[in-house]
Amino acid sequence: MTGFAPAILPAAGARFAIPVPVLIIGAGAAGLTAALAARNAGADVLVLERDATPQGSTALSSGFVPAAGTRFQKAKGIADSADSFARDIQAKAKGLAEPALAVALAGGSAAAIEWLADAHAIPFDLIDGFLYPGHSVLRMHGTPRRTGAELMACLTEAATRAGADIATDAHVHALYADGGRIIGVGLDRPDGTVEAIGCEALILACSGFGGNATLVRRHLPEMADALFFGHAGNQGEALAWGAALGAATRDLGAYQGHGSLATPHNILVTWALMMEGGFQVNAAGARFSNEHQGYSEQAVAVLAQPGRVAWNIYDERRHRLGLDFADYRDAMAAGAVVSAPDVAVLAIALGLPAGGLAGSLALTRDLAMGRLSDPFGRDFTRKPPLEAPYYGVKVTGALFHTQGGLLVGGQARVLRADGQAMANLFAAGGAACGVSGPAVWGYLSGNGLLAAIGLGRIAGEEAAAALTRR
Ligand SMILES: Cc1cc2nc3c(=O)[nH]c(=O)nc-3n(C[C@H](O)[C@H](O)[C@H](O)COP(=O)(O)OP(=O)(O)OC[C@H]3O[C@@H](n4cnc5c(N)ncnc54)[C@H](O)[C@@H]3O)c2cc1C
Repeated sequence: MTGFAPAILPAAGARFAIPVPVLIIGAGAAGLTAALAARNAGADVLVLERDATPQGSTALSSGFVPAAGTRFQKAKGIADSADSFARDIQAKAKGLAEPALAVALAGGSAAAIEWLADAHAIPFDLIDGFLYPGHSVLRMHGTPRRTGAELMACLTEAATRAGADIATDAHVHALYADGGRIIGVGLDRPDGTVEAIGCEALILACSGFGGNATLVRRHLPEMADALFFGHAGNQGEALAWGAALGAATRDLGAYQGHGSLATPHNILVTWALMMEGGFQVNAAGARFSNEHQGYSEQAVAVLAQPGRVAWNIYDERRHRLGLDFADYRDAMAAGAVVSAPDVAVLAIALGLPAGGLAGSLALTRDLAMGRLSDPFGRDFTRKPPLEAPYYGVKVTGALFHTQGGLLVGGQARVLRADGQAMANLFAAGGAACGVSGPAVWGYLSGNGLLAAIGLGRIAGEEAAAALTRR
């Protein structure tokens, strides 16, 4: 952290060298995609990144980006459409996702992925194997290693290749405004020097507020004591600048949680285990929820259990599926994954009551055979029941990424409280409101990178177009 609080400074007295046409704050997926789009439109671009190496929450993520109607889906025989994707977004958000944004992001998702693949050599493919909660068809796209770190490396390389300048160790602490127009930014360097850079259009791609404990306590009180597993640089500066400029915000109570973080190792354990037949129990060995509602709201359900922990229970077949994921392999290497030849030995290894765990296992077998219906409403009949040998991982719930932010229209322009678009200010990714409704339960898997890449592309195109309209 630096000693500067986010501020809006007056134009009077500000001196800049030649203004940068499109200036972008933040080199995560949103900022780099915006840079690519602005470069494609012929604009000169400078991206300012506070860290020495661009990473952001994007590099910490699994890097899965949903898109509907791509050629990657078609090649694997998956029929999908923007309408169906928008319906899934709204179904998860109980109809409360910002409507124009949901339509714009779902509608532009296939073109965005294919553009990144074809024009910028990002090696996307469709991830098959299991369906994420809330998606009606397979539509997650990822790079070969299925990691956000690989996606970030590809985006950084592509932006550099496209001629975007990326200045690192550049922490923006202030915007200079002349009436409603942004004319530049103030930034500080790690050695304490301060610089000012002028701009013609500004894109806020500096993400959400998950790393700011005060804002988390204010807007997401149920997560106040939870681990934040995203990027510490997500300090909510876009919100502070927006508030000072009279910008509207939306859905500040929305966030992406996760109910499957191996503890105490702090390694993500893929939700594929749950979607394919695994289940979660608490310290009594008892199930406590419908795991198929979504991993986001499961963060709250797990944190409500004794000790704020739960155990993922699954078997050899699901374990093999997990091995496809880099973080699951990391969890294995860290000793977080426990296996046992039968339920009694598993209970001892996990420190759970044998009777409780055996009872839950027997119950899920009956549910899978259709002999009973689940009191929590999950359908177990589509997957085979678990078979010995069994596996277990102790997990906790965590905050991954905030989903509310500055209200933007379909053109990624920041809107004022009266609905008017600001002259030359755009927002994308975690800095903008997403499409996850007002609370944790509205997060459809992939909404984070959907808003980063989808809105980033729109923001870059629109910022470049705004230059020629002046
Ligand atoms: C563990 C984990 C797994 C996830 N998996 C997925 C997934 O598979 N699919 C999905 O869709 N979403 C996923 N998400 C969410 C996803 O990572 C985010 O929604 C997405 O990365 C946000 O992108 P962004 O560009 O807005 O922010 P970021 O990637 O966080 O980038 C913002 C950048 O701005 C910089 N910055 C901030 N403030 C300033 C400032 N004042 N000056 C200069 N620079 C600044 C930061 O240093 C950072 O580099 C996951 C999140 C986590 C934590």
